[in-house]
Amino acid sequence: MTAVPADAIAVDLGGTSVRIARVGVDGHLLGDAVRRAVGRTTTRADVVEIVVDACRELAVPHPDHVAVAIPSFVLDDQTMAECPSIPALTGSDLGGLLSDATGAGRVHIFPDIACAALAEQRLGTGVGSSRFVCVALGTGANAGAVVNGMPVATAFGCLGDAGHVLVDPDGPACPCGGRGCLESITSGWALARDGAALGLATAAEVTRAAQAGDVRATRLLTRAGVMLGRACATWSAMIWPDTIAVAGGLSGAGELLLAPARAEMHRVGAPYIVDGIRLMTATLGDEATLVGAGLLTT
Ligand SMILES: [Zn+2]
Repeated sequence: MTAVPADAIAVDLGGTSVRIARVGVDGHLLGDAVRRAVGRTTTRADVVEIVVDACRELAVPHPDHVAVAIPSFVLDDQTMAECPSIPALTGSDLGGLLSDATGAGRVHIFPDIACAALAEQRLGTGVGSSRFVCVALGTGANAGAVVNGMPVATAFGCLGDAGHVLVDPDGPACPCGGRGCLESITSGWALARDGAALGLATAAEVTRAAQAGDVRATRLLTRAGVMLGRACATWSAMIWPDTIAVAGGLSGAGELLLAPARAEMHRVGAPYIVDGIRLMTATLGDEATLVGAGLLTT
């Protein structure tokens, strides 16, 4: 007897594009994803229309279950927190809107970091890990945890705003209102700020210059890595992970970032906690968030 496929849909609602895919009973994606552009002028109705059209295109016009990864947090009443990349979604009940439009009985929204962390734990760097931390270093910085196979949600559907742990009390001001947070030093925007003095406009340019042997660019990545190591030591005291994976654009710097991070984590962290931690790059790349949303339909 063959299993009846569940009519489930996974949605990765990113800041510049949305991807929608059909999901099998095991939570794995089936076939290619539909992709559409979104941005700051996208309305709530636009997002709903995109998802409804994609469901039709994927031959699942009335899915049973829809899991949506959002570039924001999920408030306690299941509405979306502030969404800077698609402002119209701030405060929206996106789950309810999609449920009404598609007829799906179950529609759940999850912070993208929770989806990415789950995917990396189940299918990427964290396979076999029982306590796993996934750090996403893209434009900003964030971290999620998966313990015993399930995403940890301490606040707003994930690990709070874990990219804003303190790493340098004398560090720069951060848009979050704090100072010396991980994101204020180790993030795409922070490296673009620091790289400007070297004539390097983006974190990717800083990485390329460092890979080409530029000493000052290497110094910036070393500092970013040291701060990442401090954040890893802090998260580890609470989560006690066996594996920490670093994802996002900055992870492309590889050992230029990870070697100083590892050294600093061991310098400042409690040996009985940090000695057992593998700190590595994540493996799933941009697919992780959509894959994780798929896993969350099961
Ligand atoms: Zn901050």
